[in-house]
Amino acid sequence: MERRRIAAVVVSAGRGERAGVTAEGPKQFRTIGGRAVLARTLEAFATHPGLGDIILVTHPDDLDRVQGCLGALLGRVRVVSGGSSRQASVLKGLEALEASQPEVVLIHDGVRPFVSQEVIDAVVGEVTAKTGAIPAMPVTDTIKRMDDAGRIAETVQRQGLFGAQTPQGFPFRPILEAHRRAAAQSALAFTDDASLFEWLGHPVVLVRGDADNVKLTLAADILAADRKLKGQAMIDVRTGNGYDVHQLVEGDHVTLCGVRIAHDQTLLGHSDADVGLHALTDALLATCGAGDIGTHFPPSDPQWKGAESGIFVRKAVEIVRAKGGRVCNVDITLIAEAPKVGPHRTAMVQRIADMTGLDAERISVKATTNETIGFIGRREGIAAIATASVVYSDTTVSA
Ligand code: MG
Repeated sequence: MERRRIAAVVVSAGRGERAGVTAEGPKQFRTIGGRAVLARTLEAFATHPGLGDIILVTHPDDLDRVQGCLGALLGRVRVVSGGSSRQASVLKGLEALEASQPEVVLIHDGVRPFVSQEVIDAVVGEVTAKTGAIPAMPVTDTIKRMDDAGRIAETVQRQGLFGAQTPQGFPFRPILEAHRRAAAQSALAFTDDASLFEWLGHPVVLVRGDADNVKLTLAADILAADRKLKGQAMIDVRTGNGYDVHQLVEGDHVTLCGVRIAHDQTLLGHSDADVGLHALTDALLATCGAGDIGTHFPPSDPQWKGAESGIFVRKAVEIVRAKGGRVCNVDITLIAEAPKVGPHRTAMVQRIADMTGLDAERISVKATTNETIGFIGRREGIAAIATASVVYSDTTVSA
């Protein structure tokens, strides 16, 4: 199927008095989540793979602000000066497309930054050579009509009532003609482009809008949008892994995950050679780029001789916390031919809970043999791997 040529006109020439005036200028230039409202709006269209020309209609006084806030988007957008009303600005935007003659044009409010690709697609999908399409949401509040005295004159049946959103999509030629006719006849009372299209008897269908596709009208709307985007700042979950192995020699016990287990061999090492806790220490340190166990507890340092390895885990947790981290869960796999780990698992989990402050359900200790092959299978050593997940706070990433 041949792809239709689709263009967009984003109107952003308003002065936005209802949102109040700030140093940032009209509301479309206010920043939400660190970026101008208008830049977010235009990006929704610029990143849509089906879109051709994008016309931004702006107020002549705002050209510097447009340059300032659009950055790289400027290369993707054609900027034209608006007229004295929204309707006049849309006409200017449509006329800017006359030479390229798209088949479908989407007309969108510059202050609807949360428009989704799905809504754009749904609108485009319903536009034909004669029919327009707009996204809309069913009205859920009960609607009242007020009289001059501020009393309810009527409760309006809300069944079948919808709130119109943008982008509103139309076949290009007929909507341009409709706008020209309206301007020629000084018919200027239309509040959206669909009503102007309907005025000439053209059909317009409704497609499902999106509750998030709000128009930022008041100062409070902009603040709410800003808060919403900041709330969406990246949840900073990090994962670290650790691996350790120690040699088995003749002896009478091993220490695994903080539990001393009688055995006919012992693990050789500077400290208590607890491979499980060493792997866990490395996994925790890895979540904040804090090196590894050797960085903090060099084997050359005599103070760690025979040390109980819980010290290393506690220190790693301290480092993680100092960097704003909260440990979510840890998972350790011991790889050993013997001794059996199962009978000691609950005690191991309890020891790790004491060291990390985690609930038992956030701690996993499991074991596997090496099927009698390799150095582990020959009972020459025991290995452990560990994974830790840590959530870090105070990390704001601009969305
Ligand atoms: Mg070790």
